[in-house]
Amino acid sequence: MVSCANHPGVDAVLKCRKCGRSFCLSCLEEVGEFHYCFSCLKSVSRDARSVYTGKLTASLIVGTALCVAIGVMIFLTQLDNFVALVNALGGGPDAMKTFLAPSMLATLAPVALGVAMFTFLAIGLVQSKKWALQLAVVLGLMVIVWRLVAIASGSKEPIYSPLILIIGPIVVMAIAYINRENLRA
Ligand SMILES: [Zn+2]
Ligand SMILES: [Zn+2]
Repeated sequence: MVSCANHPGVDAVLKCRKCGRSFCLSCLEEVGEFHYCFSCLKSVSRDARSVYTGKLTASLIVGTALCVAIGVMIFLTQLDNFVALVNALGGGPDAMKTFLAPSMLATLAPVALGVAMFTFLAIGLVQSKKWALQLAVVLGLMVIVWRLVAIASGSKEPIYSPLILIIGPIVVMAIAYINRENLRA
């Protein structure tokens, strides 16, 4: 019988998965389905942490760049609407009522959903919150369905608008999926 590497004379029961040395049960730690000795356990958890940090950093960079780019594009495509909103705010209740016509709401609603989606994506990544990423995915699905319905019903909006509001949510979902196991509830 092989002795524990730490305790001569004590029978070893298992091998450390990393270094392969044999140990008694009190010298091993169970991680999932594997056993590690205490010195290997430290480097294993350090490796796991750095993989996690790397993945999160990459997602943060991609997510931030995406949010900024799409934010700028949404702002530019909605520039006329922003000007109209400012004018309506200065023009009293009647001007506001005219501004908030159903056609305008139909244009602005997916934009508002898209902005909310990116906001929750950012919260989810920065704060490691699973619920925020899940909310971002749900909002993303709503935006996509909204855009597909608009395209199917012959919306005459410029091509970049549907592209932004379909590709954007898909990228958000991909980022959420990549980070799904690293987040707290
Ligand atoms: Zn070991
Ligand atoms: Zn031992």
